[in-house]
Amino acid sequence: MRHYILLMLAMLMMLPASAQMMPSLADEPKFHDHEVKYSKKKTSFQLMTDTDAQEVKINIYDTALGGSPIRTETMIKLCKSPIINDKSLLWCAIINEDLKGKFYTFNVKQNDQWLGETPGIKALAVGVNGKRGAIIDMKQTNPKRWNKDRSPAIASKDLVIYEMHHRDYSIDPSGGFAYPGKYLALTERKGIDHLKKLGVNAVHILPSYDYASVDETRLNEPQYNWGYDPVNYWVPEGSYSTDPTNPMTRIHEFKRMVQALHKAGIKVILDVVFNHTFDIMGSNFQRTRPDYFYRKNRDGSYSNGSGCGNETASERYRMRSYIIDCCKYWVEEYHIDGFRFDLMGIHDIETMNLLRKKLPADIIIYGEGWSAGSCALPQSQLAMKANISQMPGIAAFSDEMRDGLRGPWDGDDKAAFLGGVKGNEESVKFGIAGAINHPQVDLKKVNYTDKAWANQPTQMIAYVSCHDDMCLVDRLRASVPGITQDELIRLDLLAQTAVMTSQGIPFMLSGEEMLRDKKGVHNSYNSPDSVNHLDWNNLTRYPQVMNYYRDLIAFRKAHPAFRLGDAELVRRHLEFLPTQDCVVAYRLKDHAGGDMWQDIYVVLNANRQSRTITVPDGNYTIVCRDGQFRHIGLDTFSGNTVIVPAQSALIFHN
Ligand code: CA
Repeated sequence: MRHYILLMLAMLMMLPASAQMMPSLADEPKFHDHEVKYSKKKTSFQLMTDTDAQEVKINIYDTALGGSPIRTETMIKLCKSPIINDKSLLWCAIINEDLKGKFYTFNVKQNDQWLGETPGIKALAVGVNGKRGAIIDMKQTNPKRWNKDRSPAIASKDLVIYEMHHRDYSIDPSGGFAYPGKYLALTERKGIDHLKKLGVNAVHILPSYDYASVDETRLNEPQYNWGYDPVNYWVPEGSYSTDPTNPMTRIHEFKRMVQALHKAGIKVILDVVFNHTFDIMGSNFQRTRPDYFYRKNRDGSYSNGSGCGNETASERYRMRSYIIDCCKYWVEEYHIDGFRFDLMGIHDIETMNLLRKKLPADIIIYGEGWSAGSCALPQSQLAMKANISQMPGIAAFSDEMRDGLRGPWDGDDKAAFLGGVKGNEESVKFGIAGAINHPQVDLKKVNYTDKAWANQPTQMIAYVSCHDDMCLVDRLRASVPGITQDELIRLDLLAQTAVMTSQGIPFMLSGEEMLRDKKGVHNSYNSPDSVNHLDWNNLTRYPQVMNYYRDLIAFRKAHPAFRLGDAELVRRHLEFLPTQDCVVAYRLKDHAGGDMWQDIYVVLNANRQSRTITVPDGNYTIVCRDGQFRHIGLDTFSGNTVIVPAQSALIFHN
């Protein structure tokens, strides 16, 4: 039977585009194939539609925008999906010419209406602004030695994640980049060396697939967007390339970026936004298969769990396999090492678990375990934070820790632990323990949750700030009345000490190490560079901040006690000391994780005054105090008490 199918396919490939209809084939793998396959001799196109589709045309163009098709072909029906209730229909066309350099669109007729031109839902290369697919030879996009590119081997418990936006990182002239705002900035020595010096080992880049809201034909004008408005999921965004009009360039330069980061021992994590599209009516999903990819409410309206006007239906077979196929593609073609799922809580648990199974084990997966509105799927089926225990190998952000430190998400002027507001200690402890059950964390006093939602500490992302909301400096300024510059720096360092000594996976927003601010802008998704840029002069203005971050990260990496990666080990070795108001203190005891030090003590004091802590009688070496690290020791003390200076972390060992 298998040979028969292959033979039929082989015959089909030899037929010209205007060939007669083929008999139906039970050929599921074909449904997962790329929509375009190029060779010098021919290009074959395929598109999957609903079985209700009446006709599909393929248009070939000389240009990415404007002009008329140089050729239009009617596609032929190839086969229906063998999967019960799937209602998928595959169309194909083969053009026996060398089409390299040409562009294409599909147009589907359904319910007697033409749905409009689209590059399909799986274009691998596109023209400027992603309106038309581009026919290229993918092999020619590979940088030199691409086949030798290897991801650094870093276990998830050992990751230190740095979240960045291409433009933020390198656009400001103070950075001195040759390719400001581009993928290639991360191939420049300056861009790479900074990351290496800081010590982060994974870069999480904000959406870098082709998105809608930056006009790639007007890059000489100031434009900015985070990119949470996806158009073509399988293609890098054009505005970060040096030439978005050349479909090869963005692909080539993206790969060079990945290669350079890998060479520096840094993993690359992609922010993926499968939960919604830029719009419904003009979307490639809708023009290919109306209403299949979106969830609807009972009244027929579109559900809007994303807050962006729509939400996708991951529980449907083709949407589910779309997400999985797309992630696999980024891993295989672009050597991506992990995915951060935007509003992961809109997707269903089964999809996320299947994705976990289908991706290599060393690919990190984490996401926002919430949605931005109610979804048209029962809460119990959604990949929410509360359901993370049902999703082994997948992590979620801890807003308990974040807001326990900085203050609640619904009020920028509200403070918490860092601002000296008592009652947040258990939320901070929850984050230190990695969102697992710990006998000394009183879940009744933790914000937002009454259960330890992680089975393993590596299922929790520890953080105090990200691209959303105010950055740390702005939040501290907004929420701590009368804060001085000295206090600002002290609290900034204290906040990251909590994050970097958590048993969860630590995560920081790029530029925090430069004491970045965003001029108090809460949602800077389309703010100008003057708000979003990193000011590299801050490195010389506030050298103590970068130095502390560097030492803090190096400290974490030097001590397996902070990276136990196992809930049982955390419960065995992590012991909290009695809590005082706005003081969280704990020790990692008995050479935790094989640590060279017997007991490591971390005390986080957010009070405006120093505090005295009681410890077991002994001789201790202080390695971090008052914003300074010295691994071989800053000082020693003996006895059973120690003073912790105001608004800072004290770390010592015996
Ligand atoms: Ca774009």
